[in-house]
Amino acid sequence: MDKAYNVMDQQFKDGPAFSKFLDNNDPLGHLRQRFYIRKNTIYMCGNSLGLISKDAEDTTLDLIQKWKNEGVQIWNVEENKYYLYSSQIAKLMAPLVGADDDEIAVVGSTTVNIHQVIGTFYKPTKDRYKILLDDLNFPTDRYAIDSQVRLKGYTPEESVKIVKSVNKFINENDVIAAMTDDVAIVFLPSVYYRTAQILDMKKITDAAKARGIIVGWDLCHAVGAIEVDLKSIDADFAVWCTYKYLNGGPGSCGALYINRKHFQLLPGLAGWFGNRVETQFLLRQKFDHRKDSNGWQIGTPHLFSMAPLEGSLKMFIDCGMRKVRQKSLKLTGYLIYLIDNKLIQFGFSIGNLREDSKRGGHVCLEHEESYRISLALKERGVVPDFRDPNVIRLAPVAMYTTYSEVYTMVEVLVDIMKSESYKKFSCKRNVVV
Ligand SMILES: *Cc1c(COP(=O)(O)O)cnc(C)c1O
Repeated sequence: MDKAYNVMDQQFKDGPAFSKFLDNNDPLGHLRQRFYIRKNTIYMCGNSLGLISKDAEDTTLDLIQKWKNEGVQIWNVEENKYYLYSSQIAKLMAPLVGADDDEIAVVGSTTVNIHQVIGTFYKPTKDRYKILLDDLNFPTDRYAIDSQVRLKGYTPEESVKIVKSVNKFINENDVIAAMTDDVAIVFLPSVYYRTAQILDMKKITDAAKARGIIVGWDLCHAVGAIEVDLKSIDADFAVWCTYKYLNGGPGSCGALYINRKHFQLLPGLAGWFGNRVETQFLLRQKFDHRKDSNGWQIGTPHLFSMAPLEGSLKMFIDCGMRKVRQKSLKLTGYLIYLIDNKLIQFGFSIGNLREDSKRGGHVCLEHEESYRISLALKERGVVPDFRDPNVIRLAPVAMYTTYSEVYTMVEVLVDIMKSESYKKFSCKRNVVV
């Protein structure tokens, strides 16, 4: 990684004047006004659900208008834009992940897409029947893989192999050492949801390919937060969601990438929207597979879970992922600097790796009282994200968070600790935390 790109080497300064200075010199500062920012709220939860932009609202209202005007003819307007919506939105997604647009489908949800890709690529034989995972990934990925293994007549105990973390991080060399001859597929996250650790996708993918192992990536915490170049990585498949850093709205459609060298494979879960466009409405009994990623679509596209994404992705295209990543690193670097200087004395620690090249879009703040502190933050208008047992995730988002908000939030945390105001809250957890 280019040394000049390492924002942790920058000289940050304490005090509100410095945060104002950073805001005044922010090349992405103008984007904030395109979002709906709630009054008296500092939103640090964009890694869980991104905020709505006016651009996302516009494309959604446009869809409503067309439904009003057209009824069923909505599938035909603008050269079948909505009928082909997955491939239309894939064109906007492609520059963010460095893939060809026909290698991307905007469809389903991450969990469903994991079932789809594993259902497609998992062809266990007597000698190669294991799927290699890790012990830190978001659990839905594990649940999906376990059930796919069962569908093929194996048990997770015999067929799911787990790379163990060391001190809450995964070591790439441990992953590679676990790539034994019985492993059929490696499936890992590129950015960890808790610590924001970035794995070296290229190194792991190359090692898997050299051993004849299929490799797939979960990019949920990567896309929209860090730069991803699927072409150079050349993995077999990937999945990601669009409601986190891509601001597609609650439950917006997920995305999947199928490397074009696999277009001839039959989808594990087939449906009529995976049929070739030319013959789909002939409604024949025989499936005529569309030979690109959209051949992995299943049924009718979920237009209302896609329309906000159209507007939102255009904003990413306008400013480019490079700038988004640079600002994100500077925001999280500044936050880590302030935590080091003001919060360590209150028993906080930082759960991230320090290098820019190993840090995704959020800061992982740890404290044994994290749960009650997160409630105290909410009471003071800060929206954090708590993860059991002791992590507060703070995601200052490049497109809409200011450096002044980061500064103010740290001041609020100092105040909460000094006044011990978190102690009035109960330790009993909410259902959705
Ligand atoms: C957010 C996230 C998911 C979410 O899956 P859904 O099917 O959209 O609920 C799955 N995996 C990882 C790693 C995630 O970060």
